[in-house]
Amino acid sequence: MSAKPGLMHPLSSPDSEFAGAYKRSSSEFASQLEAVSLTSDFLASSPVPLSSGNSPFPGIARFIFEGPHGGGDPIRIGFFAGIHGDEQAGSHAILELARTLVRNPRLAEGYHLYFYPICNPGGFDARSRYSPSGKDLNREFWKNSAEPEVQLLEREIVEHTFHGLVSFHSDDTSHGLYGFVRGAVLARSLLEPALASAGEVLERNCDPVIDGFPAENGIISKCYDGILTSPPKLENTPFEIILETPHHAPEPKQIEAFVRASLAILVEYRKFIAFAADL
Ligand SMILES: [Zn+2]
Repeated sequence: MSAKPGLMHPLSSPDSEFAGAYKRSSSEFASQLEAVSLTSDFLASSPVPLSSGNSPFPGIARFIFEGPHGGGDPIRIGFFAGIHGDEQAGSHAILELARTLVRNPRLAEGYHLYFYPICNPGGFDARSRYSPSGKDLNREFWKNSAEPEVQLLEREIVEHTFHGLVSFHSDDTSHGLYGFVRGAVLARSLLEPALASAGEVLERNCDPVIDGFPAENGIISKCYDGILTSPPKLENTPFEIILETPHHAPEPKQIEAFVRASLAILVEYRKFIAFAADL
């Protein structure tokens, strides 16, 4: 681990095993998170098996953190990482986020958080952007895709009707942190504080054009077609945020940036819900 403990976010564990974790397979990685879940009543491992067929695809790891009750109905947020198997910082960030919440469950008060740390297990194991069938899974959503990972995640998204979806990616063409927003207007007012908090550890990309899209202070409001989102034409659209760290930055910093951004989103969205309840 290269970051000095003094530079870590106060909520991060000083003994995190970032360095040793990188070469693990998807199943070894899931067992690490599983071990964290065994230490907490709030975090449960609940993998999603493939529901039908004889596909060799075993399913996808899912962990659910049910935070302390917050008064109202639980707010459901889905966190997705590793849809591009070579962008592993996001997967490790989910592990760190889970550890942080296990130590401080109140940070997730009122929330049910659904963690999908490795959305493309075959790609994760091969350290490849693509699925074993050679597809970029993040261009396959809501197109009647035959990819089993996509079908499984689409079912999850439909079934749990998330209030928000947060995806983690790393961009090897970007020198700084940025994000995409989609859906509810408030997504932008959640992404700004998320980037500000993550900006304490990684510089923000403030270029006018990022990844071919017009950007404003690191915020892009257009996306590629077929990315992991809520289904089209929903009546109540969730907020959707895609966070992108610079892939070349030290991985511990990318991980900390994702964790900080996620915690900021939880804080800000809770304020929004409380405000809406008072209207
Ligand atoms: Zn990506």
